[in-house]
Amino acid sequence: MRYSQFPLTTLKEVPAEAEIVSHQLMLRAGLIRRLASGLFTWMPLGLKVLRKVEAVVREEMDRSGALELLMPAVQPAELWQETGRWEQYGPLLLRMSDRHGRDFCFGPTHEEVITDVARRELRSYRQLPVNYYQIQTKFRDEIRPRFGVMRSREFLMKDAYSFDLDPEGLEVAYGKMHDAYRAIFERLGLRFRVVDADSGEIGGSRSQEFHVLAESGEDAIAYCDADSYASNVETAATERPAGERPAATQALETVSTPDVRTIDALCEFLKVRPEQTLKTLIVEGEDGPIALVLRGDHELNAVKAQKLPGVKTPLTMAGPDAVRAATGAGPGYAGPHGLGVPVFFDHATALMADCVAGANRDGAHLTGLNFGRDIDEPGTVDIRNVVAGDPTPGGNGELSIARGIEVGHIFQLGDKYSRAMNAAVLDDEGRERVLSMGCYGIGITRIVGAAIEQNHDDAGIVWPEQLAPFDAVIVPIGMDKSETVREAAEELYRNLESRGVDVLIDDRNARPGVKFADAELIGIPHRLVVSKRGLAAGEIEYRHRRDTESVQLKRDEALDRVVGESLV
Ligand code: ATP
Ligand code: MG
Repeated sequence: MRYSQFPLTTLKEVPAEAEIVSHQLMLRAGLIRRLASGLFTWMPLGLKVLRKVEAVVREEMDRSGALELLMPAVQPAELWQETGRWEQYGPLLLRMSDRHGRDFCFGPTHEEVITDVARRELRSYRQLPVNYYQIQTKFRDEIRPRFGVMRSREFLMKDAYSFDLDPEGLEVAYGKMHDAYRAIFERLGLRFRVVDADSGEIGGSRSQEFHVLAESGEDAIAYCDADSYASNVETAATERPAGERPAATQALETVSTPDVRTIDALCEFLKVRPEQTLKTLIVEGEDGPIALVLRGDHELNAVKAQKLPGVKTPLTMAGPDAVRAATGAGPGYAGPHGLGVPVFFDHATALMADCVAGANRDGAHLTGLNFGRDIDEPGTVDIRNVVAGDPTPGGNGELSIARGIEVGHIFQLGDKYSRAMNAAVLDDEGRERVLSMGCYGIGITRIVGAAIEQNHDDAGIVWPEQLAPFDAVIVPIGMDKSETVREAAEELYRNLESRGVDVLIDDRNARPGVKFADAELIGIPHRLVVSKRGLAAGEIEYRHRRDTESVQLKRDEALDRVVGESLV
């Protein structure tokens, strides 16, 4: 490709709308352009990268035995009504109607459509197992599109759906996808972790996520290598601590705490540690408000809390009026003592003594609150996020916390969709069997952003070889003035192209500094500089994007190096 024929606009300035480095670099390098909130055009350079991701995913899916198909992006409401998700999915679902007034949605996912395919196509156990996949555009009306293509509204997903006769078959299909996903992320050259996950609104039992590790990740991952344990913090379990509670040493007292509404303010005001305080949160329940009590320094885990009996899903915090109705005080003063609504205590409160808590009166807290004496012994539940240093479930170590970007998710759905939509086959005894289903997603577009989060420096993107939009760039210096340089550069270009290297020649009339800066920003792995001085010595300047220094190589040596290391 010739730079002169590839209208590429790179930006020097960091675009103000981009919070994280991958988004900034994708805009600066001209990979994407924003159309509207959460909608992006993949420019030719970016599309080359996207297609590379797609190709690796497709190859590994094919290798696993999955079959590619392509379903419509637009889906009829009737299918979603069959599974109840037309109501449940909420505002994330982009709904529309056609000229006849029939309801449709732009698919955020395809369980309903594929289950409809399966119930029509699959009749006999002899047709199983089967795993269908597609690479296709999804739309989710995300509440906060951000980070460019990492959380956009329209994005490209690889989604696969397996169908088996029984749960044992599903286990096998799931295992195959697990292995295929590992192979995909390894081939893409990403540092990733597989973690246990919540199956969320999609339903089903077992599920794992694949996370690219990066500081900017929206997810927190709890892990312990000694215990071979890794889980999304959303689902990482905590247990009731073992041991004895210390004896009470303080009498119960009410203290005046005007304008003290947060744990931080409370600790500052009373000179106590957050570990001594109880944080009481009022949430909406099916039959009125419910109180959730945590140790003051802990965070509520919404995924766990919304699974408690009577608590509304999705978890909704009570508004100020509801808090007052439930506690008799405004927000910031709730506490478990004398509270007239159902209360759940987190496990970590089990062994606390001489606690500080809200008094359910404006401007007042209690000190010296003790379980068994002032309030009933708590039966405790798991409603907090794990923190670094918590014991692992296996008991062999302590948890560490890392940030991750979810790039893949595999689920064992079981019969949730197949039962609702009556997708069944006949087994070898002629009995009807509801299909066991799995679903497996990869965020193709998100991977591009995630890869940049992991691979960049001050000058720009440092693509893993497999993802680079070009393998090599030729930078001729003074090409307009020297015919020798022009000829040598053109010859090099033809040579590399004929050997299958995807090479870009920077044939613009621009200063060398501009050309170097662009090549670095775009992140092309191999750079060859052709100059009059180098040619006189029969040499070409070579530099890999990851190297700090360039080297002078003989022409053939330079060529072989590029060809040898390019993925031809
Ligand atoms: P998240 O928790 O990040 O919202 P999800 O769990 O809702 O994602 P899945 O339903 O598991 O997503 O979708 C499969 C994959 O699609 C995800 O692992 C992710 O890589 C990708 N994906 C999901 N939502 C988006 C989005 N808004 N923009 C880009 N990619 C996305
Ligand atoms: Mg997910």
